[in-house]
Amino acid sequence: MNITCSLRLLAVALACAGILSCSGPGEKVFRKGTVLMDTMVTVTVVAASEEKAGAAIEKAFGVIAHLDGLLSAFSEQSEVSLVNRSAGIAPVKVSAETLELTAMALDVAEKTDGAFDITIGAESVLWDFVTKRRPDDAVIRERLGLVNYRLVRIDKKQSTVFLPKKGMRIDLGAVAKGYAADKAVEELKRQGLAAGLVAVAGDIRGYGRKPDRSGWSVGIRNPRMTGRDDEIMAVLELRDRAVSTSGDYERYFILDGKRYHHILDPGTGYPAAGCRSVSVVAPMGAGADAFSTAVFVLGPEKGMAVLEMAGLEGVIVDKDGRVRATPGLRDRIAFQGNN
Ligand code: AMP
Ligand code: MG
Repeated sequence: MNITCSLRLLAVALACAGILSCSGPGEKVFRKGTVLMDTMVTVTVVAASEEKAGAAIEKAFGVIAHLDGLLSAFSEQSEVSLVNRSAGIAPVKVSAETLELTAMALDVAEKTDGAFDITIGAESVLWDFVTKRRPDDAVIRERLGLVNYRLVRIDKKQSTVFLPKKGMRIDLGAVAKGYAADKAVEELKRQGLAAGLVAVAGDIRGYGRKPDRSGWSVGIRNPRMTGRDDEIMAVLELRDRAVSTSGDYERYFILDGKRYHHILDPGTGYPAAGCRSVSVVAPMGAGADAFSTAVFVLGPEKGMAVLEMAGLEGVIVDKDGRVRATPGLRDRIAFQGNN
């Protein structure tokens, strides 16, 4: 493969809302999109009627909005913000969801030797990709002492999270969208729908089959697009799996010819340099989300090794545009056009 491009995952279906296809008796595909978690959320379902589909999709949106209220680092009212404000002061009682996700994130940190680290919050808060703010080197260096997932204290019995050092911050931005996709899928199942696809930006979880019995087609985006035709570089068929993409083109700015993006190396506090994008396929959205960020930080060689160790599949586009896919994915992914 010789593809000079990188990735992001998009739902490949064509229409925006309403009925998309109808192939089995009584079963149709419906889709609705909205903005939640500061991004585009699209829910696609297979249902017998538009009413049933619409009601279930609204419930799924409600679940995602609720999680955003708990997990957002940007909202002062979120549990995560309360945990951060209480750093060095006291443990904070949190919901089962915040506790579960924090514990899971610490587990991934352990498995990736800290390449994935939610205490990156002390550094990530310094960067602003809208106003193109590049923090001072001295401040970045100073704060490195606040980045250490091993310091986070979780009490599962009391359902509390404690950051022992003043100034520590957690940032669940690298797992929250995948987790939200998981919880939205749970809701769709609870509503009795046999198949669905939830896409929270590039964090996508699918289950069940479409009326024609096929899986869900998901496009992997080319992150160095030059025109409309090269937007999607590969298509993946997703069956009861999640896929998540981390890319250096999602939130970034270019300053003095250098690209600064939002995925930071916890060892340095600066954007990780080894990849343009990483897509990970996993049973659950939260796992796919965490590992796509972690592998991005680790770079292509160590990243491939970690995917193998964790039993996950993935596609990596390295900093030079070279594409690598894990063996298990090679048969399930169709590369388009310019590879
Ligand atoms: P994602 O798009 O899932 O890769 O998540 C990127 C977001 O996760 C960033 O915008 C930060 O909020 C946060 N983040 C950045 N670097 C890391 C890291 N090394 N470990 C955990 N979270 C990170
Ligand atoms: Mg992630």
